[in-house]
Amino acid sequence: MICDAHVHMGYYARKGYNSPYYYSPRRVLGVLNRCGVSEFIVSSTCSQIDSISIDEIMREAVEMKRIAGNRAHIFFWLSWHLYQEDKRMSWLDSGLFEGVKFHELETQWVTRKEKTLNKILERINERSMSVMFHCGRSEGCCPFDLRQIARRYPKMHFNFAHCAPMREMEEVMQECANVWTDTAYLSDNDFTKAPCFDWQNRLMFGTDLPVWQGHERCYLTAKYRICLLNWRKVFSDLDAMSAFNSFLHIL
Ligand SMILES: [Zn+2]
Repeated sequence: MICDAHVHMGYYARKGYNSPYYYSPRRVLGVLNRCGVSEFIVSSTCSQIDSISIDEIMREAVEMKRIAGNRAHIFFWLSWHLYQEDKRMSWLDSGLFEGVKFHELETQWVTRKEKTLNKILERINERSMSVMFHCGRSEGCCPFDLRQIARRYPKMHFNFAHCAPMREMEEVMQECANVWTDTAYLSDNDFTKAPCFDWQNRLMFGTDLPVWQGHERCYLTAKYRICLLNWRKVFSDLDAMSAFNSFLHIL
């Protein structure tokens, strides 16, 4: 049994297809079931599609909850157009979402909309929800850029996803006890480097299922099994579970 901290559902580009492909809750859950995943955090890539409204995101979340129950921990992927649609963010009180996800390469929250981001984070902070940021090397995505946010909300739990760049992430996690990271979309090579760093027991197993198909031709279940294998070569499922639970405030 293992927990996955980084899963998506919804419309997403698929290599060889002209228009975004729909990864339904059932399809995504099927892969997770075949691979023995007990619990997972899932957010919808539909947030990136301008014609999709909050109602549709909610319907999809309800469907995932219906078929996966409490195994699914749903995060609301907040993009600029969904913020514009409802600035009061009444979805926060729907009871459906356990956290919020931000992706700088899709909405420039950190580099261009910092004031609004802070306003939003204040609201999230009142509800002790967890927050996920896409992380990487680009401006506004790197751990050093995001560190100021972790410092400002010391009680809030953050997943600075993708574990990259590792050296920088390690430093931020050493300083900020409220920062977790995950192994989503880590290359085979990076998996072998990961154990060389001290993740403070806050490294979560994550995969990015099913977004691989946007970049490569692969079978979801086969690819997922490779991620599991990579993880199990160097970490234990128990490590993944305890980091996952502490991130979500599950005792
Ligand atoms: Zn992702």
